[in-house]
Amino acid sequence: MGRPRMKSKKDHRQSFRLTRSGFNLRPNGRVFLTKVGEVSVRWSRALPSTPSSVTVIREPDGHYYLSFVVEVAPTPLPAVGQEAGVDMGITRLATVATSNGGRTEVPNQKHLARKLRKLARLERVKTRREKGSSNRDKVRREIAVVHNKVARTRRDYQHKQALALVRENQVIHVECLNVAGLVRNHRLARAISDAGWRQFTQIITEKADQFGRSVHKVSRWLASSKTCSDCQYQLEELPLHVRRWTCPACDAVHDRDHNAARVILAAGRAERLTASHASGQVRRREPGGAPVRPPTRRQGVDEAGSIPPAA
Ligand SMILES: [Zn+2]
Repeated sequence: MGRPRMKSKKDHRQSFRLTRSGFNLRPNGRVFLTKVGEVSVRWSRALPSTPSSVTVIREPDGHYYLSFVVEVAPTPLPAVGQEAGVDMGITRLATVATSNGGRTEVPNQKHLARKLRKLARLERVKTRREKGSSNRDKVRREIAVVHNKVARTRRDYQHKQALALVRENQVIHVECLNVAGLVRNHRLARAISDAGWRQFTQIITEKADQFGRSVHKVSRWLASSKTCSDCQYQLEELPLHVRRWTCPACDAVHDRDHNAARVILAAGRAERLTASHASGQVRRREPGGAPVRPPTRRQGVDEAGSIPPAA
């Protein structure tokens, strides 16, 4: 494979983008890239349709990756009555409460913690190396490689989890998070960026668009963790380490995150009902009593990736 000239960025990740005329998918599974030639590719997943562009990325470990942008036509699933409230968490990626009383826990990925410890160790090694030395450069490259791997693994995992959520629920209620505000709190920063709430919400939204479901962001500020989902009593305070609590008003025992998910679900449903009444819209009603919007016609964009070409 020839050496394309890359625009160099500070982060040492180099890339260039080719539009439709700049590349060609060969029937033998190889990809022709203009000015580069035909390259063999190890596909991470099959492309759902013809991609509109491809980005060639050279990772710091010297591997090349291809990232395709694929237009995905909406493929609405049959409507269901169930709705879900999603509480994005730290100990778990998310806790889901459904309108039929169900509860699902979406755990954080298992192997991520180990990789992050490795990253922390490498960062410490890097600071001990002299600036500008080749040893330091080597560690920097190693860090970049682990980072990329973590990001890819996390995205794939979130795609799977989002798909399950979207399949089972007609409307998914999430809290409108002020992630920027939360990240300023240093102790939480790591955990929050790791869980990747923002990315998860975005992936859920993309999938909802594709499968004719809705994502509703609860606009009202909720004290979702501190409010009893049974009687709406609001606690003054609920320290982060408290995972279970008993409502002093109604004696209900709550799992912190599941309770929050239920509060989000109830607030989201109420908001949507108010909105539909206020606008006088006539909405189709499903057996479960859920207001349902007709599937959107908008085209979603999915990104499918490859693993490094075995060049
Ligand atoms: Zn209560």
